[in-house]
Amino acid sequence: MKVLKFGGTSVGSAERMKEVAKLIAERGRNIIVLSAMSGTTNTLVEISEYLYKKNVDGAKETINQLEAKYMKTINALYEKEESKIEATREVKSCFNYMRSFTKDIFTLFEEKEILAQGELMSTAMMNIYMAELGCKSVLLPALDFMRTDKNAEPDAQYIKSKLNALLDKHTDADLYITQGYICRNAYGEIDNLQRGGSDYTASLIGAAINAEEIEIWTDIDGMHNNDPRFVENTDPVEELHFEEAAELAYFGAKILHPTCILPAKLNNIPVRLLNTMQPEAKGTLIHNAQTSCAIKAVAAKDNITAIKIKSGRMLLAYGFLRKVFEVFESHQTAIDMITTSEVGVSLTIDNERNLDAILDDLRKFGTVTIDRDMVIICVVGDLEWQNRGFEAKAMDALREIPIRMISYGGSNYNISFLVRKEDKVKALNLLSDNLFKNK
Ligand code: ASP
Ligand code: MG
Repeated sequence: MKVLKFGGTSVGSAERMKEVAKLIAERGRNIIVLSAMSGTTNTLVEISEYLYKKNVDGAKETINQLEAKYMKTINALYEKEESKIEATREVKSCFNYMRSFTKDIFTLFEEKEILAQGELMSTAMMNIYMAELGCKSVLLPALDFMRTDKNAEPDAQYIKSKLNALLDKHTDADLYITQGYICRNAYGEIDNLQRGGSDYTASLIGAAINAEEIEIWTDIDGMHNNDPRFVENTDPVEELHFEEAAELAYFGAKILHPTCILPAKLNNIPVRLLNTMQPEAKGTLIHNAQTSCAIKAVAAKDNITAIKIKSGRMLLAYGFLRKVFEVFESHQTAIDMITTSEVGVSLTIDNERNLDAILDDLRKFGTVTIDRDMVIICVVGDLEWQNRGFEAKAMDALREIPIRMISYGGSNYNISFLVRKEDKVKALNLLSDNLFKNK
């Protein structure tokens, strides 16, 4: 059995829902995880904001608008009158439930209930549509098996036993549908796995049932080997190691968050990124196997600030780096890249919120200089140190670009370069030409 997850845009309209329905019906007995229709969760956040601010009119108006959108979708989605009636009843009951919150106090607890309605509606609608197609789908309520523990971490044992018990009850189903994102907390209250959490749901379910594969369906054909906004003719990467995917995730490859795929990685379940618009395309396979000797992708991260701390006292001293790191820790700022020499250290941050305070503290230890508006260019692939020539190839491609920092050796999977913002597009193109063209 596989787990197939469809994001908000994949179920964002009646048309898209019909395509997904066809696709899942063809693929047999799998567990289908759905997000809310696109835009819904944002609107639910908006409704909650009105309710926090006691602007009941604002909340009601927004609820009405969203409800109208759903009624339109229902009209366009179903052929049969009875399906329309059933879906209308389901969806209206969710909206009426939201309206009930306009009368009382509003806290985090009520907000979580509101945020859960999006996935409850999209799955109910899809389930009714599957019946119309003559497909016997069974709705597995995520609130009955998806749960976090007292540390707000998914409770893998609980999920596994509850989900498998539910599946055992419905062995004659053609397929199963469940809600992404939503769960209960350790106290049984409605909660969620944070924004974008449907991928996490899919990964947790995959681990719980020891799935053959987890498929993440979006509207792009997998991870590309370079940024299509700046480089022409990028190609989807056919396969990546989980570690490579994690490196790329930091660089804005938003399709997959490393935490979300961790259960899949640990349980050795392959994750495949696929495109609902092009269902036959291969997409990107992410797994624990390494196809050796290949550079796979290039990515960039903007708005980087480099900080250099130089000190004669660092020479032969120990404890210097600890003091430097403590400054960043105390100002809750993550360090991304780091390079050192005997007399200094350079590091980068992507958040300048506490920069002044950080600089102030660092000046106790040495001379501090900063470079703003920098970009990290990251080259990902099988960069194990024993392999020859790969680092040289990447560096050679960038020979015309001034490079502020180079970081290699932190993992077997990447080499990073820090360059100026104005050199970013050129750097991405040079790497694309030299690493991926006429391979
Ligand atoms: N609907 C939720 C969100 O928009 C969860 C998800 O789509 O993954 O964040
Ligand atoms: Mg999403």
